[in-house]
Amino acid sequence: MSYPKSILYSLFFGLTCLSAMENKLATKKIQTFESKFKSTNYWPHLCYALELFINISGHKNAKKILEKKCKKIENEKLLSFIEDNTRTDERATFYVGPSEPFNTEEFAFSTGKENIIITPEYYDILCNILEKKELQKNDSDALDIFKFVIHHEMGHIKNNDIKKRFDTSISISIASAILFELSKKMYNFKYSKLTTFLSMQILKALTIRHLCKKQEFRADDNAKDHDALKGGILLFNNVIKIKKEYLEAGIKIKTASAVHPSPESRLARLENKLQALSAT
Ligand SMILES: [Zn+2]
Repeated sequence: MSYPKSILYSLFFGLTCLSAMENKLATKKIQTFESKFKSTNYWPHLCYALELFINISGHKNAKKILEKKCKKIENEKLLSFIEDNTRTDERATFYVGPSEPFNTEEFAFSTGKENIIITPEYYDILCNILEKKELQKNDSDALDIFKFVIHHEMGHIKNNDIKKRFDTSISISIASAILFELSKKMYNFKYSKLTTFLSMQILKALTIRHLCKKQEFRADDNAKDHDALKGGILLFNNVIKIKKEYLEAGIKIKTASAVHPSPESRLARLENKLQALSAT
């Protein structure tokens, strides 16, 4: 299903659930809930303000975490490998650092204006491979995957994605507050305040999710050469294989965060690109 379609379906589903909830099941409960907030009629705006605060402090916090918990990469072999796989119009500083404080589970990710962070485990694997005199097939596959990772993260930096994500979430919070006030004035909350607020929250979450997934595809598009495309294909094939193995063992694992496209869709795009490249 395409993303605009899935947004519409999810929105329709969300609104239907909320209407059913309001009209039939919980009208009294919602009214009681809202009457509790009558004295503080601005609770939705408090929520929007809290969202703004969390977004801004999270953005500022990322800078502090980078300074305190990450270290610039100094391994010369790794740095020269990165340089060999960086184009002339690309610039980034590479760090080694933990992913948890940045609220991500990725083994490499970009943050700030032009910083790329590699987790300590991944850093060790790469350094060990680059120390070897003779590379096995597994090692050269791992280096191809790293080439894809470099191009993908450089894509985020070139497209200024971190700033765009921050700006978008701030603008959407402000727009939600304005829309909420407008709907209060225009419809006088024919549908309750809570329904209006929740519908807008669903729409907001789906919009951000859609934009982030688009950014991920565009960052993948920055991988243009044969080895990097091959690395991306290997990476997503591995992820899909692991997912299948876990499923066969009866365990469902998450292979992509809410803001990432599925590994299957990313794999299909990269395979098409590699095919097109091989045909030229
Ligand atoms: Zn990404």
